[in-house]
Parts: sequence; C-alpha cells; structure tokens
Amino acid sequence: MNILRDRLRRIYVTLMSLVFMNPVLIGCTEIEIESNPRESEISATATPIGKARSSGNLKRTTTAINSRTTIQQTAQTDELEDTGDILIFHTPVEDETYQEVHDIIKESQIFEEIAETINELLILPNDIPVYFMECGEENAYYDPSEVEITMCYELIERYKQIFTEEVETDEEYIAEVINAGLFTFFHELGHALVDQLELPITGREEDVVDEFAAIILLQAGEEGENAVLSGVWQFAVDAEEEAELEELTYWGEHSLNIQRYYNMACLVYGSNPEKYKFLVEDEDLPAERAEGCEYEYAQKSQSWEVLLSPYYQE
Ligand SMILES: [Zn+2]
Repeated sequence: MNILRDRLRRIYVTLMSLVFMNPVLIGCTEIEIESNPRESEISATATPIGKARSSGNLKRTTTAINSRTTIQQTAQTDELEDTGDILIFHTPVEDETYQEVHDIIKESQIFEEIAETINELLILPNDIPVYFMECGEENAYYDPSEVEITMCYELIERYKQIFTEEVETDEEYIAEVINAGLFTFFHELGHALVDQLELPITGREEDVVDEFAAIILLQAGEEGENAVLSGVWQFAVDAEEEAELEELTYWGEHSLNIQRYYNMACLVYGSNPEKYKFLVEDEDLPAERAEGCEYEYAQKSQSWEVLLSPYYQE
C-alpha cells in the first residue's frame, strides 16, 4: 500500500508542478474572437501543456499572452506583496466512517504538494487555511470572512463510495478517493482566489469557479483529466437526485447539477475533441453543444491566464 501510495503521490506531484511551475493556464493558445463564436475559427487548437513544451509552442504561446498582460502585470505586482500561503490541515475524525478518507488524504500529502506549488507560483495577500474535517454534512465551502476553505470528509466519503465500487487495484482505489475531493478543492480554491485577488469576473461565480477547477486540472495531464471526469460524474450523480425534487432551485446561485454536468463535460471535450469524442458518441454530451466546446475551452483558458498572470511570482 505504501509503495502504491508513493507512486501515486509522485504522479500527482509531477503533474501539479508541471502545471504550476509554468504560467498556469498556458494550454490555451491564441484565439480569434469574432462576433459570432460559433462561426469563428480557432486559429490554433488548445494545446495540452506537455505537448506545448515538447513542440516548442510554449514559448510562442506565453510570449503572445505576456505581451497582452505586461502593462497590467507591472502596475499591479509593484503594489503586491506575497504575504500569504495556502495551508493544509487534517482534523482528526471522531466518526470512524471517515477514518479511511482522512488517512488516505493525509498520508498522500497531495494537497500539501498542490498548496506548495501554488504558493510558489502565486502572490497571495493572506494565508488561506484549508481544513479537511468532519462537518456533520456533505459539503465544502470557502468562507470569505474568515478567509478559509472547509472540505468535509462527508462529501469525499459520499463520492468515494460511488466511485470505488468497481475499482480493482489499491492504486485505483486511492486515486478515486483523492479524485473524490480534488475537483471540489479546486472549485473552492477558485472562490478563494476570486475573493482574495479581487478578480474581476462577470457571470455567476459558481459557474466561473467550476470552470477554473476544470481548466486547471485538464492541463495537468492524464491524472488531472481523470479528476475532472470524476467531477463530471459527480454532477451527473447529483443531477439524478436533484431531478427527483419537487421544485428545482432555478433561482439558486449554482446552476442546476445537470447544467454543471454539461458545462464541465463540454470543457473536457473541448480540451481534446479527438480523445473525448466518446462523450459525444455515447450521447453524454449532445453534438449540438459539443460544436462550440473547443472554442469555449480555449476562450476560458485564456481568460484565466489573463486574470491570474498579474499575480505570478517573479
Ligand atoms: Zn462554490
């Protein structure tokens, strides 16, 4: 079990450092935005970071992006000091139901590694503690008044139970437990960054940070992609439950789970239509939506690059 755990940890460390050591969201390349996005051509398709590195596209891509953001970057980073870090805490459990999730997450040290890479990359004004803990409910949230993230074991346990049913090896089991919390972690981190960096977003914040989580993980290689897929299926599972409610919360701050499912499936497909064409073939993503997903992915990746680049460490 230990050997497997270490192997898995190395995979994640590698993927996370690959993402964060470079300008975060360079997977997007230049896109030509025309008045009607559906009709516009994407001048270069989204390039996963690994491919961009090996093919030499990376330099061209980042140069292009940097030239657009230099003025903003100079203006803002002059005034900013990196006086905060993301800090991970594992609260001991009282209910032994959650002991295994607690142990796997703590021992893997994956969230510590992710935090470290983000801390090395981004200027943060305040510490952002992340508490993995029992909450008495299946939930996860960012609290802007305390500037802290709470990740409830109950939520991770719920998805763990669903997604570990068919796994065959210890390695797969551990990966599913971690994936059960990874998408949510990046979603909450998105809220924290929007708040702490005062990022100018429009559109509903809940949708925006779903996109942040998906994009950052999709650019982290195979394991990150699996974590997003796990998030996509989590929305599908929640959507089934939601469909049974008498009244759907159309007025809610979150999109309905079924919409969050399609939005995330669209980004997955758009990040690599060739690889994920099965989503369309299996009718998990309607062809009518899939048509615009490559554009959607490229556009949103580029937006996040522009939003975050003023806060990159020197
Ligand atoms: Zn949220």
